[in-house]
Amino acid sequence: MPPTQPEQQQQQAHSYSNSCNSGARERTQTIGETDMDQSVLNGLHLGTDINYHGHKRQLGHRVFVNRSLHLENIKYYGFDMDYTLAEYKSPQYEQLGFNLVKERLVSMGYPKEILQFEYDPTFPVRGLWFDTLYGNLLKVDAYGNILVCVHGFEFIKHHQVYELYPNKFLKLDESRVYVLNTLFNLPETYLLACLTDFFTNSDEFVRVERGIKAGDFLFTYKSIFQDVRRAVDWVHSDGDLKRRTTQNMAYYVKKDKRLPTVLSRIRESGAKLFMLTNSDYTYTNEIMTYLFDFPHGATDDESHRDWKSYFDVIVVDARKPLFFDEGTVLRQVDTKTGGLKIGTHIGPLQPGQVYSGGSCELFTKFINAKGKDVLYVGDHIFGDILKSKKIRGWRTFLIVPELVRELHVWTDECQLFAELQNLDIKLGDLYRDLDSSAKVKPDISQLRTCIRDVTHKMDMSYGMMGSLFRSGSRQTFFSSQVVRYADVYAATLLNLIYYPFSYMFRAPAMLLPHESTVAHDQAHQPPAPPSSSSSSSAAIEDASSTSSIISASKLNGKDCKDLHRASSIVHTRPSTPTVVTHTHDEDYSEEEETASGAESPLEQLQREASD
Ligand SMILES: [Mg+2]
Repeated sequence: MPPTQPEQQQQQAHSYSNSCNSGARERTQTIGETDMDQSVLNGLHLGTDINYHGHKRQLGHRVFVNRSLHLENIKYYGFDMDYTLAEYKSPQYEQLGFNLVKERLVSMGYPKEILQFEYDPTFPVRGLWFDTLYGNLLKVDAYGNILVCVHGFEFIKHHQVYELYPNKFLKLDESRVYVLNTLFNLPETYLLACLTDFFTNSDEFVRVERGIKAGDFLFTYKSIFQDVRRAVDWVHSDGDLKRRTTQNMAYYVKKDKRLPTVLSRIRESGAKLFMLTNSDYTYTNEIMTYLFDFPHGATDDESHRDWKSYFDVIVVDARKPLFFDEGTVLRQVDTKTGGLKIGTHIGPLQPGQVYSGGSCELFTKFINAKGKDVLYVGDHIFGDILKSKKIRGWRTFLIVPELVRELHVWTDECQLFAELQNLDIKLGDLYRDLDSSAKVKPDISQLRTCIRDVTHKMDMSYGMMGSLFRSGSRQTFFSSQVVRYADVYAATLLNLIYYPFSYMFRAPAMLLPHESTVAHDQAHQPPAPPSSSSSSSAAIEDASSTSSIISASKLNGKDCKDLHRASSIVHTRPSTPTVVTHTHDEDYSEEEETASGAESPLEQLQREASD
């Protein structure tokens, strides 16, 4: 993290201080209110007063914004089910999956000792890469630079990482790397570590470069990984996971009476709703019936309604991400039997019916929606968000349940940020007044060790693999995908209940170091530009000669003809545009353009403020 310039270090430290102090101040002033937003999440801050960001909703109710999104423009709200409409309780749901996969592996021939593994929720974090060649779990940044490398439970030292991975880098090659993207992947992430640790340390096995050996048998890390994958898939599709979940819904699934309310309010706002899940109808129906199992409907005085009545279109067995590409055959579900009706459904889609499969192309044609009309809410960064955005241009809302824990650490470990700030200031002081003529070399070894220790403590506050979004000051691969593909994100879709459906989510600036460490009001005298008096005067001459031609033509009463002549004049340089030309807001519409000559909305706001 340390920038090279001491001044920058001090300003960066200043920014940490601001974010830390502002959080503390807000907690004492307004319960639950905080000013931390995406720019602070990036370790960035404008270095200005906390009021710069204006009013913010209570921290736990916030929706965070990567790209501006005007809810008023959304005609369809689409929802995934697993971990979106239905949030599974952690860690008991992961624990259940973990235990079932262990049992399956034993039935496949793995040693019974592995049944002793116990799920530890503090170890895995979502978004890790599993390197099937060396059997390592890797936490990487956006480009594949390795931030953390763990073999079993052993965290690999810096120099060893270099030996395995030249330049501490690994290319995302799908034949070698598996990205553990989803919350469903958490049990297997931990199980891969457990198995690697077990085999590596067992007396009966000998460690070789790409796996372990026992007598005449070689178990490559790739084969172990493939066995785990097969076991996980089996547990989800044919095993007991669904049955055990639905047998004990209250233990495994979160139920919240705000869900029928928020869905009902979406429809009242004039938008339509659809559900698009990979789960089959029988399981979907059981989960959704439980989620809407209240004596009342959307409000306390409305009578209970079937869950299907909250949606305009329901699609199960969607097979995302395939759905966003070529898709599958669209069929109708017989909701009485749970089976599929014969024949391909050729439309239109009827409310109250349930459909199976299909493709996004057909689906959006049936509902008559353009890409930007749809806001899709899902938890799977690849299957739900990346594909729907990249292929279909849907607006995207990512659910990240881990945000609850991430924000808790971010706000509660302020002391660590303050410590880091002090260390950065000390580092800056050591280099103060030194320039390229300096012969003395300040001893920064102690400070470097301290900075490393504090950064480590910050990482460990999140869990053994650190934060989902960062390692120290570096952002993770997961983080980069969230920024790139999710327009907005929140811990739960229920946070939509705290915003009006006319709301415009506006993205905070993503700041670069020369912006995040420099306050707007910081004095800076730019060096004088090189002399350009001759070209400047030429520009003035050109401009005056052009305008004089136009004026003269108007005076002569030959506007059309002479204007044509005027426009054919060679433009020696471009003129500064007077209307908006840079599209920095995804929700920008040309219809909103201010009519020429009229008072602009900004001018109107400024006038109202001064009145
Ligand atoms: Mg899901």
